[in-house]
Amino acid sequence: MSGNPYPLGLRLAGRRVVVVGGGVVATRRVPALLDAGADVLLVAPELTPALRAHADAGRLCWQRRRFTADDLDGAWLVQVAVDDPSAAAAISAVADERRIFCVRADDRAAATAWTPAVTRQGPVTVAVLGGGDPRRSMAVRDAIRDLLAAGPGRLAPPPAGAGAGGAPGSVRVDRWQASPRPTHRGGQVALVGAGPGDPELITVKGRRLLAEAEVVVADRLVPGLLLDELGPEVELVDAAKIPYGPARAQEEINRILVDRARAGRTVVRLKGGDPYVFGRGGEELLACAGAGVPVTVVPGVTSAIAAAAGAGVPVTHRAVAHEFTVVSGHLPPDSPASMVRWEHLAGLRGTLVILMGLKNLAAISATLVAYGRPAQTPAVVVQEGTTDAQRTIRSTLGVVAADVAAAGLRPPAVVVVGDVVGTLGF
Ligand code: SAH
Repeated sequence: MSGNPYPLGLRLAGRRVVVVGGGVVATRRVPALLDAGADVLLVAPELTPALRAHADAGRLCWQRRRFTADDLDGAWLVQVAVDDPSAAAAISAVADERRIFCVRADDRAAATAWTPAVTRQGPVTVAVLGGGDPRRSMAVRDAIRDLLAAGPGRLAPPPAGAGAGGAPGSVRVDRWQASPRPTHRGGQVALVGAGPGDPELITVKGRRLLAEAEVVVADRLVPGLLLDELGPEVELVDAAKIPYGPARAQEEINRILVDRARAGRTVVRLKGGDPYVFGRGGEELLACAGAGVPVTVVPGVTSAIAAAAGAGVPVTHRAVAHEFTVVSGHLPPDSPASMVRWEHLAGLRGTLVILMGLKNLAAISATLVAYGRPAQTPAVVVQEGTTDAQRTIRSTLGVVAADVAAAGLRPPAVVVVGDVVGTLGF
């Protein structure tokens, strides 16, 4: 077959697509078909466990047998994913007879349609055909994916009027609005978890929204390298520098989020770890929602789990801990304002992860021991976990506060108490 391929974006929602074969090739093809909303008929005597799960969940229709010509009744597209070349050729012949495009895993040259290498970012789909060489198309696709991940600023200079002074309706605003979910014609806010410290531990979605933001309101604990990547036209508000007490500062942050969004700007509120783990994300969400500003939350990797992992400690381990509890230590146990029942936590056998606990560590550890947690329980304190500056000390509950003081550890740090500490042998 000669001639260049003619690229198309097939709109398969509700349309019958037949997949013949239930092995690894079909396993790789089916998710994108389901994502496109296709009405998938899968014909195969056996399925891989992943395909079986789709069938069991009712996401596709499975005919447990070999292919027959009638399977193509009403089909718009066929994907042949069987090993046997003569069976594949026979299916392909039926498809040709009925003028149904046919993708063949076994013989690209004989196929009437090719599947491209694909990358998606938000609403944008990039499909690459490598002239019959799948490795070439994947290499080109990967290069484009990296370019997209680097952010729109890397692809083209920002359009005039976009950025810090961007009016509603500027190109950058439109780009965000083009994504499937937001429908508001003005600005919007995303509360994005930046992860625990290593700049690579932000999510793919968080990084994309950051690259599209016109205003970024960043926490003290946000990895600096993420901010380094912002273009000069992006307004960066350092929430740590807001010159009031904590309560007023939070009101001020809420006000900035709402004001900027109402002015039509795309705002990312970038928060250390996960926005909802001791991060006041809920308050900011309510402030935006209350002001009628569209707001989304992008979860992040929390330091409660990741800082422990950074020190080689799994928060659970088979036959060692069947639970982990994350608790704030910002108030001493005897504070009337404390909502933590330390006497109950002392009775747990699993892992206890204490955030914001360095200042009150002496009182906290003494209380846990007084209520029955053994003083020899292993403990680890991880300062600036997952960053190049990470520091770790190993101790036991009875003496951990003294060891932290002697070592001069400073916040941000998590304290992890339990038999999981040291369980991996280091
Ligand atoms: N939302 C954040 C936590 C905010 S509370 C999250 O999900 O991680 C701030 C506390 O988090 C700090 O006092 C410290 O206890 C902990 N913390 C945050 N980043 C840390 C890091 N890189 N290493 C150790 N602890 C960290």
